[in-house]
Amino acid sequence: MDIDFDLIIELQRLDTEIHDSALVLEGIPRLVQDIDKKIQAGSKHLADTKEKMSQNQKKRRELETEVKDIKVQIGKYRRQLNEVKTNKEYTALLKEIEESQHKVDTLEESIIAEMLAADDVEEEIKAALHRQGLDEENLKKEKTVLDEKMKETEAKFAALNKEREALLPRIPREQMMLYEAIYQKKGGNALSPVTGDFCAMCHMRVRPQMLNEIRDKLAVILCENCGRILYCTTKPEPVKPGPPAAE
Ligand SMILES: [Zn+2]
Repeated sequence: MDIDFDLIIELQRLDTEIHDSALVLEGIPRLVQDIDKKIQAGSKHLADTKEKMSQNQKKRRELETEVKDIKVQIGKYRRQLNEVKTNKEYTALLKEIEESQHKVDTLEESIIAEMLAADDVEEEIKAALHRQGLDEENLKKEKTVLDEKMKETEAKFAALNKEREALLPRIPREQMMLYEAIYQKKGGNALSPVTGDFCAMCHMRVRPQMLNEIRDKLAVILCENCGRILYCTTKPEPVKPGPPAAE
């Protein structure tokens, strides 16, 4: 079987590139997903921090309402002081006022604590906003790069497949079938160049008789060790222009 190695080598090149492009196309959606997750995580962190602030404000409003109510009550007690008839009632009212005032003091301390906490949360929000802004900008850039890579690779993939389709009819059927079978079995590399007198893929020495057959392209020779189709890359040395022949 006379074999045109150039065609099969070209087929192997196309198949390798098609395989690599397919891997890239397969991987990109997941990378985009990961970026989206990061963007979402940034938004969630910001939302959580804002929620912390609204909880703080709610708590402060509740405390302030409580203080207001107690102060109204204290006012009532004070007015009652003028109306009581006995010392005992008077003392009891004073005690109520004192206890209420104590509650107000405690609540006001809590309000101050909440206000201080709010300052910290305010800083957290600022930091989260800043970080989210930077992250989102970078992440969106990464997405744009991936989008472009996806489009490029899709175009490349289509072009490679077109080339492959055009190449197939030029390769004899039995060579094609052999190539396909080895390609499947080896998971990608059906060919191996002979370097020196070794199979480049598995480093097994090729017997001299086989080497000659490979060089003469008279037969398809498979490596005795790894089973790949062997081919020679060594081309005849170009004739160097020598010194002018003496006449
Ligand atoms: Zn081999």
